[in-house]
Amino acid sequence: MTPLRQVMFVAGLVLVALPLAVGLLPRAQAPKAAPLAGLVPGKRIALTFDDIPRGPGAFYTPAERTTRLIAALRASGVRQAAFFANPGRIGPKNDGGARLAAYAAAGHAIADHTWSHRDLRAMSADAFLADIDKAEAVLKGQRNYRPWFRFPGLNQGGRDREKRRAVLDGLAARGLQIAWVSVDGSDWNIEGQTIAAKKAGKPINDAALRDLYVETMVQSADFSDALMRRVAGRQTPQVLLLHETDIAARYVGDLVSALRQDGWTIITADAAFADPVYHQTGDFDSANGTLPEALAWQQRLPGPLYYERNDVPLANRLFAERVLYRPTGATVQQVAAVQ
Ligand SMILES: [Zn+2]
Repeated sequence: MTPLRQVMFVAGLVLVALPLAVGLLPRAQAPKAAPLAGLVPGKRIALTFDDIPRGPGAFYTPAERTTRLIAALRASGVRQAAFFANPGRIGPKNDGGARLAAYAAAGHAIADHTWSHRDLRAMSADAFLADIDKAEAVLKGQRNYRPWFRFPGLNQGGRDREKRRAVLDGLAARGLQIAWVSVDGSDWNIEGQTIAAKKAGKPINDAALRDLYVETMVQSADFSDALMRRVAGRQTPQVLLLHETDIAARYVGDLVSALRQDGWTIITADAAFADPVYHQTGDFDSANGTLPEALAWQQRLPGPLYYERNDVPLANRLFAERVLYRPTGATVQQVAAVQ
């Protein structure tokens, strides 16, 4: 659990407990849309990748990663994913600009994740909007540009409603839509664990890493599907948060196959963000995670409100148990008995 989520968890207990104690539990309004023409039920999900261009991972050069990721998406029949860029990470000494252009040329959508990936909680609304403008100046002319904006760290300003409102007004004035995430399995942490293991010289079980990554992302999708039905009153398309990682380049084909086997249809980012559920610009008590989580906080729903493997210590324990190679044949107990 991130520190912010710990705070929100405690705050949530108070929020739920207090009204219960006085018998005044408010039933926040679910955004129950009337049946909408053209909206079909079913498990539908779009893939999105953040933080382009990211630095080196555990397996490939960044250029190799991009080539492999594009090829894997194409081979899997993923017509359009979305890539959220931080143009401030493009430098004269890296190939970030070329990689971003390659994703666009492959038919994927390119959108804004701020210039520098700074967290809104650490800056003023004006400075944050300036960071967005700097990114827009680079991205707007790109092929397959979309006017979508994703908040770094998914943080829309903590509980500072005034600041969030100022940013949202700024986005509206610029014609930018919030690119909400609905599914988060903390893939960035699995990538980070993999890089750390590689650096420490620990052997990595490739098949186990693939299985952990795929299983975690599929479970997080199913978690959000169930939560979104509770908070939206209908089955909406999902938006999966991934990052531009080596593990995505390596296993995204396996992930797409597993999602399909689990009943999911991969849809375009265009189709997902066209759904009215992603056009919410109202006030939230907490808008610092996924959309179903924010809606659930608003409705004072009992938890869990986010998928359990977003708890980093739990995720790291799973990684250590399942991915890091251990000599076979001898358990600790057996070794003790021999001694
Ligand atoms: Zn990011």
